[in-house]
Amino acid sequence: MTIDGISSTQGEDGVQEFDVLIIGAGPAGLAAGIYARRAGLSCLILEKGVPGGQVLTSPMIENYPGFPEVPGMKLMDHMAEHARRYVDIREGEEIVRVKGGERFEVSSGAGKYFSRALILTTGSTHRKLGVKGEDGMTGRGVSYCATCDGFFYKTREAIVVGGGNTALTDALYLHSIGCKVSIVHRRDSLRADKHLQESVAERKIPVLFDTVVEEIVGADEVTAVKLRNMKTGVVETKPVNGVFVAVGEVPSNQLA
Ligand SMILES: Cc1cc2nc3c(=O)[nH]c(=O)nc-3n(C[C@H](O)[C@H](O)[C@H](O)COP(=O)(O)OP(=O)(O)OC[C@H]3O[C@@H](n4cnc5c(N)ncnc54)[C@H](O)[C@@H]3O)c2cc1C
Repeated sequence: MTIDGISSTQGEDGVQEFDVLIIGAGPAGLAAGIYARRAGLSCLILEKGVPGGQVLTSPMIENYPGFPEVPGMKLMDHMAEHARRYVDIREGEEIVRVKGGERFEVSSGAGKYFSRALILTTGSTHRKLGVKGEDGMTGRGVSYCATCDGFFYKTREAIVVGGGNTALTDALYLHSIGCKVSIVHRRDSLRADKHLQESVAERKIPVLFDTVVEEIVGADEVTAVKLRNMKTGVVETKPVNGVFVAVGEVPSNQLA
């Protein structure tokens, strides 16, 4: 089989063998693919969704040199298009098993691949709060992606949980589309970049410091959260429709 002029060989049972297999087509996987092919190696990128990774969910990227302000989706369109000039990207192919040995054996539901080298660029996924009411409420008021689900909370009440860049970016985005949003943060100061903190202050988005979510309340959908003040111990119920969780990431390293 030939991809853009560089051959992979047929392995046993007709399976394909490459010099390098890359799992995950986020920014890291796409960059790795470009480098591998430019080094003259046969290579394939396997992606469980569509190319782009987490950046796809970022409304605006402002720290990528050469692009002062670019929507995440647009930036990743450019990156994927650039990568495709060099390397084939198989979309919708989740890798479920990797076996080491003299060569790597990589299996998805759809096929099996072999390679001399394997690059895992599987990124990370959102961390959960781990509180009562969170599980089972995803899509019914609990969200881990403001840009994906924010639209449903226009003119409604929501909280963003977290104090880092993602939390503040989410809060600013929700505010911009007309959501009545507050930030709930367990510490007494925010961790996010200063310019994001300034934007939040300028827009007068309320920040509840020293506060944690103790429970997400609702039957069919979220109607309130129970918030505990870490300093006083007082628990209050705040009526909300949406809970956007932005408390960090956990590495997707199950294949390693
Ligand atoms: C809301 C948000 C806003 C952000 N804003 C910014 C910003 O403004 N500036 C900035 O620098 N960074 C930002 N980031 C961080 C940035 O998105 C990440 O640092 C970057 O995406 C990491 O790239 P990656 O390629 O390592 O992993 P990821 O982007 O996580 O990509 C991993 C890819 O691997 C795929 N994958 C995982 N497991 C498998 C499997 N088993 N089989 C096949 N494919 C698999 C996933 O589907 C995914 O496409 C933001 C992140 C978020 C969530």
